[in-house]
This record gives sequence, C-alpha cells and structure tokens, in this order.
Amino acid sequence: MASGSDIKDIVAVGAGKGGVGKSMVSMHLAVGLRRRGAAVGLLDADVYGPSIATLAGIADAQPSPSPTPGDAGTPRIRPFDAGGIKVMSMANFVAPGQAMIWRGPMVHGVVQQFLRDVDWGHLDYLVVDLPPGTGDVPLTLAQTVGVTGAVIVTTPQPLALADAMRAARMYAQLGIAILGVVENMSYFACPACGAEHDVFGRGGAARAAAEAGYPLLAEIPLDLALRANTDAARADDDFDRPADDPVAAAVAAMTDGVVEQVRQRRAAGPPPEPIAMHRPGPPAGNGGKPSHDR
Ligand code: ADP
Repeated sequence: MASGSDIKDIVAVGAGKGGVGKSMVSMHLAVGLRRRGAAVGLLDADVYGPSIATLAGIADAQPSPSPTPGDAGTPRIRPFDAGGIKVMSMANFVAPGQAMIWRGPMVHGVVQQFLRDVDWGHLDYLVVDLPPGTGDVPLTLAQTVGVTGAVIVTTPQPLALADAMRAARMYAQLGIAILGVVENMSYFACPACGAEHDVFGRGGAARAAAEAGYPLLAEIPLDLALRANTDAARADDDFDRPADDPVAAAVAAMTDGVVEQVRQRRAAGPPPEPIAMHRPGPPAGNGGKPSHDR
C-alpha cells in the first residue's frame, strides 16, 4: 500500500442487502481482533450509508492531518481512535444527515484516498465495511490493494441469501477469497420464555454456505442487548458477557474463525496483489499496475 502504511491483512465485510447487520459484524470483528492483541483498523467503505462512526462512538470527531506525511511528502489524514482501533469513515467529513450523491468515479477516488492517504501505520488487520450488494467499492478495493478475503453477512431468509451469494460470487470474480459466512439474526432467544424462535428460518446460511463450499463462521441471534450495545458503541460489552451467552459465543467464534481462515490463506501463499483491470472513469492511481509496497 502506498504512503508508508504497513497492513498485513485486509478483511472485507460484505452483504447482499442493507440492514442485515454487516456494520455490526464489522465493528464486532474489529473489536474481537483487537481483544486478541492485534493492531486493528476499521475502514467504513459503505459510503452510501456510513454507520461505523456511530457504532465506534466517533461520530462527532473532527478529521485532522497526520504529522507524518506520505512517501512523496503528500499530506495524510490521521485515523480516529476508537478504544484502540484506528477508524476512518466518510461520516466525519460531512454534516450529519447530509445526503451524499456519488458517481462511480467519485466513490473510486474516495475509497482510494482512504486506503492510501490515511496514516494507518502498522496494522495486523484492516477490516473494511463494504456497501451492500455488488458495485464499485469492491472493485476499487481489489484494484488498489490486495484483499486477503471477505466475510459475507446474511440473514437466513432465502431472498437475503440469494443476494448474499450473488455478492460473494462478485468478490470471487475479483479474486477476493471468501473467508466464510456469518448468519445474523439467526434466531431469537426469548428472555421471557427461554425458547429459541427461528424467526427468519435459522440454518439457511449454513446450507447455502455448505453448498458454495464456504465455512460458516457464526450464527448470531437476534438480541435486544446486542442491538443496544452496537448502536451505543459498546461492542466490547458483548464479548464481556458470560462465555455461555449465545451472543458472546457467536462473536468469539466469528473472530476465531476469521483469524484461522486468514492464517490458512497466509500459510498457502503470499498476500494477494491488487488486480489489474480497466474500468470506466479515471484510471487507478497506480495505473492499474500491481504495487508491491504493502
Ligand atoms: P447493515 O450494515 O447491514 O445495514 P447494521 O449493522 O447497521 O446493518 O444493523 C442494522 C440494525 O440492526 C442496527 O441497529 C443493529 O444494531 C441492529 N442489529 C444488527 N444485528 C442484530 C442482532 N443480531 N440483534 C439485534 N439487532 C441487530
């Protein structure tokens, strides 16, 4: 990666549809990796609906320049600190509630800037929260940096699964390995009656993942405290629950699963290079050529 950042593994988090819990998973994955002692960054590349700034508790933070310029003396942005995680989101650059109208080339430019002109420093993992569906951002990501792999988040309903698997196929076409699938809102563990209600058809993601040959990383239940913790930037609290709590067990399993999948990819060979591909609009900053400085 340009500008002196040293990032070992980039893990993208994608989904077929919005509202399935992709940003919640990105945030919890970043927190889980940090709790295991890793140096972690979290890039909100969901430029159409950036919510990571809120989930990370940095929505009111103001961007500031980094004291260390890039390789060619170019100014860089300092990432925000959210409990030891380096975070960057478009939400901190626009007024709250402002609608953002993006043309493809603009999305391409801003994602490239977030990857190249942010002073990420040394990171073991950069978690990238993608916009839902298919489109420009995964393409830019794959062209600009080597992506170790993607985590697919889906709810269990057939319609959500179909879109999730479509997104997974697109990542695969871009050379992005699929690290596994997270089934979110898998079931509802009723605090009143103690029963587990399969609201959306639990197990759908496990079947779809098995058919496609992807690991199932976790089944995260629909949970009132998870929603409250996520939206109040307290993802850590979900890891601090008793180990037999289904949410604590699921977010721990998800983190361990990603660590293991990344380890296996690393054992199989060097990190992937950016892909060379021509697209309409302005050319990539490196002319689409692979860069070797990550
Ligand atoms: P996406 O990024 O896919 O659009 P979010 O991660 O922003 O979705 O989640 C949408 C909303 O659903 C948020 O308020 C989040 O806290 C909530 N949510 C996500 N997963 C769960 C869950 N398993 N149980 C309860 N609420 C959840």
